[in-house]
Amino acid sequence: MKAAVVTQDHRVEIKDKKLRPLQHGEALLKMDCCGVCHTDLHVKNGDFGDKTGVTLGHEGVGVVTEVGPGVTSLKVGDRASVAWFYEGCGHCEYCNSGNETLCRTVKNAGYSVDGGMAEQCIVVADYAVKVPDGLGSAEASSITCAGVTTYKAVKLSLIKPGQWIAIYGLGGLGNLALQYAKNVFNAKVIAIDVNDEQLKFAAETGADLIINSRSEDAAKIIQEKVGGAHAAVVTAVAKSAFNSAVDAVRAGARVVAVGLPPESMSLDIPRLVLDGIQVVGSLVGTRQDLTEAFQFAAEGKVVPKVFMRPVEDINTIFTEMEQGKIQGRMVIDFRNK
Ligand SMILES: [Zn+2]
Ligand SMILES: [Zn+2]
Repeated sequence: MKAAVVTQDHRVEIKDKKLRPLQHGEALLKMDCCGVCHTDLHVKNGDFGDKTGVTLGHEGVGVVTEVGPGVTSLKVGDRASVAWFYEGCGHCEYCNSGNETLCRTVKNAGYSVDGGMAEQCIVVADYAVKVPDGLGSAEASSITCAGVTTYKAVKLSLIKPGQWIAIYGLGGLGNLALQYAKNVFNAKVIAIDVNDEQLKFAAETGADLIINSRSEDAAKIIQEKVGGAHAAVVTAVAKSAFNSAVDAVRAGARVVAVGLPPESMSLDIPRLVLDGIQVVGSLVGTRQDLTEAFQFAAEGKVVPKVFMRPVEDINTIFTEMEQGKIQGRMVIDFRNK
């Protein structure tokens, strides 16, 4: 079967790979599609260590064609996901307390194990989340990473209906955060970005207030107009967005960090202590979070913007990604084969 495999010179080659037989608890998926994420670009470039030979992909959706011994959670014909959180140990303090994505011996699809950017993929059945009927595979693939990551971040922000949430960065992640915040949590959304195109799309998607932080002081405007946001989610990859978010919220608020700029952020300690501000990090989501995120998308509350591409385009897609040309999600289509 065809698979998008990382090469030694940091490219991706479409290779013919043979899969091993299924082991206890595993299932085989015939892939429908797999989204291309910024994390794949880092894996391919060796930013997280040399990954030569690994099959990329952690935004996969496929149909179960075979189950190994002992599988009860999936059956042939089900659609299921291949997510970044591929498998936890199942018995550590994190796995046992609803924080399984923090498991210290976690396996990640398309990184530590072969992922879903292939015609077929082996999954651990209990860790592959079922895709509900009524949600297209391409849309589901986007929810498997970007969707669940932003859903979890908004959930962790503790925002309540009618309250103001500031979302920094309105790209692929931020636009989904906006939709979850608005249509699932019934919050009022402030969209902050440096790109007018992204802000225009945010306004069309239902943002209540949009601010271009290149030309305006976002924190100052938010304090003046709404008395400070009740929470903030930062998907931007600029340090300045994180600092602005802390200044934009009101006392008692949470700032949830999702984007990964390489620098440190500066935190004013008296501001944290005297105003009771919490700054927390959020990493993807658990299987339960993904189940919920899928369901809201199936109900039409959240609609990812996806574009189907053939697997042969993969290196072109990475170039487009590096040049910042991508809006929405590029999804590799494995169905038309
Ligand atoms: Zn991803
Ligand atoms: Zn564990």
